[in-house]
Amino acid sequence: MTESGSMRAAVLSGRGQLTIDEHPLPRLRPDYVRIRVDVAGICGSDVSEFRHGPLLAPLESRHRITGHLGPLVLGHEFSGTVAAVGAEAAGVQIGWSVVSAASASCGHCSACRSGNGNRCPDYWAVGLQQDGGLAEYCDVPAGLCVPYDAAVLTADTAALAQPMAIAVHSMKQANISAGTRVAIVGIGGVGAFLLAAVNHLTDVAHILALDPAPDRRLVARTLGATETAGGDVDHEPDVDVVYEMSGTVAGLESAARLTRPGGTIVLTGLQNPDAVIGALLRDITLREITITGAKACVPADDMPDALAVLASRSDWSSVAPEVFALDRLRGLLDGSDQPDAAGIKLLFDPRARASRPATHGL
Ligand SMILES: [Zn+2]
Ligand SMILES: [Zn+2]
Repeated sequence: MTESGSMRAAVLSGRGQLTIDEHPLPRLRPDYVRIRVDVAGICGSDVSEFRHGPLLAPLESRHRITGHLGPLVLGHEFSGTVAAVGAEAAGVQIGWSVVSAASASCGHCSACRSGNGNRCPDYWAVGLQQDGGLAEYCDVPAGLCVPYDAAVLTADTAALAQPMAIAVHSMKQANISAGTRVAIVGIGGVGAFLLAAVNHLTDVAHILALDPAPDRRLVARTLGATETAGGDVDHEPDVDVVYEMSGTVAGLESAARLTRPGGTIVLTGLQNPDAVIGALLRDITLREITITGAKACVPADDMPDALAVLASRSDWSSVAPEVFALDRLRGLLDGSDQPDAAGIKLLFDPRARASRPATHGL
């Protein structure tokens, strides 16, 4: 890598158009740091951009805040090592092991000032609206770098920190304590982490995990679910707090069916805006259920908890068993390639020529 050099990167240029190719390294901005990426994950939003996009990625029109226009390096979940620090970037040192929080905000609007940068009107994300971490290097605003202790977490586990922070933020949208009955609908890329977070950060004794996929229900057991069920659950409406993570109407129906009168539903899974949910909303009215939304995360509040949850268990292999060579990204996104081992998160090493088992625990 040189200031004028290039790097291998996964570049999205349009719907279904992704290449793993040499990509120019940008000039490092003064308030940015350059991260040498160790491991990067993908999530549902990357799959959506590839299959149905561009949705958030500014491939066709310039982004209002970042100024990005055109092909974009994907990747908003990654761990790495600080390789260079811009002249005005404070508080970060070369050689640090860091994770990127992805979520950037303006820092001075009323939402930002009250500690809710995720509600900032100028909110944007590294890897969705500016070049991301599915590459050998990624430049991010210095304030988004969160150091982690490489004596506690491997780079493979640390790459799970960003989705874990989303899960932690979602968890905090409801008041839960020892006696709260909790259900999680959808044990996917955020729901699985939410389960681990509730299990580690609270004293909740009863966690019901719902997912139609039997292998995900098995993962839920390893992460602390006390009860599991498929999608068409026949269950008493006695749950205090239900987290809807699936973003499906069926998931929302299950959530409403489980919630006790007066209970709370936290919506994190993004629903299709065209879905008709009138009957459901009527039911929610008649049983006085509270619905609250949860968006992204507040890095300063949620990332330390996310790293603590990741450090609380040595084996995340049921969630992320494998680290793939970047060349397999396209096939895994379009479905022509399948992971060798069952799991929930797909991780990539931008320098590896072959896939390898993930290393969790030191
Ligand atoms: Zn994501
Ligand atoms: Zn703001």
